[in-house]
Amino acid sequence: MNRPLRVGLTGGVASGKSTVSQAFARRGVPTFSADEISHELTEPGAPALARIRASFGDGVFTPGGALDRAALAEQIFADAEARERLEGILHPPIASELAALTSACDAPYCVVEIPLLEPRHVGELVDRVLVVDVSAENQLRRLQTRNGLTRAAAQSRIVAQKSREARLAMADDVIRNDGLPAEIDAQVEALHVLYTDLARRGEWAP
Ligand code: ADP
Repeated sequence: MNRPLRVGLTGGVASGKSTVSQAFARRGVPTFSADEISHELTEPGAPALARIRASFGDGVFTPGGALDRAALAEQIFADAEARERLEGILHPPIASELAALTSACDAPYCVVEIPLLEPRHVGELVDRVLVVDVSAENQLRRLQTRNGLTRAAAQSRIVAQKSREARLAMADDVIRNDGLPAEIDAQVEALHVLYTDLARRGEWAP
């Protein structure tokens, strides 16, 4: 197979995914973000928008016709059925865009940040899972600081997500992010050596 090893980078909100992704990018590793792709696929004029309007109605659009991301997020926050419906619309175009981007990159491996990675995506979207793990207290504190939230608001965002244990159960590799930001770099360096080696030997092939 000629495509690079695809490492799926996941973790809870404010666990440090973007910080980790930047550390790989500094080493020349191609990095992609499922959230960014999802954003692009729902820009004005994108085909997915008509399907979202048909499924969720005008209430998730601004009067100017753009997607009202906050209104949509509120609808799916507390409603698993709505979340699945949105996933049914967005997953196929995200998957094909990711496949195009990752197979086109000329590198032994690439990193794909997918906040809502599920075990069923392994093999389809990514070949291997890297979880950024952080203690509940650090996660809460960093989310509060970054987003200017109260402790209660930060807590409710965290509990709406997959549990730390469920995420760790999917992990092939883990970066612990409870220390100084500089400690991320040493862990990324070790994984960079591992992934480069795995890719060279082709041992990741499903
Ligand atoms: P995510 O992409 O998972 O939401 P970020 O990488 O944005 O998380 O990190 C969340 C916040 O915590 C950011 O403001 C980031 O600068 C900060 N942060 C990340 N790692 C550390 C760390 N080890 N120590 C202190 N702050 C950190």
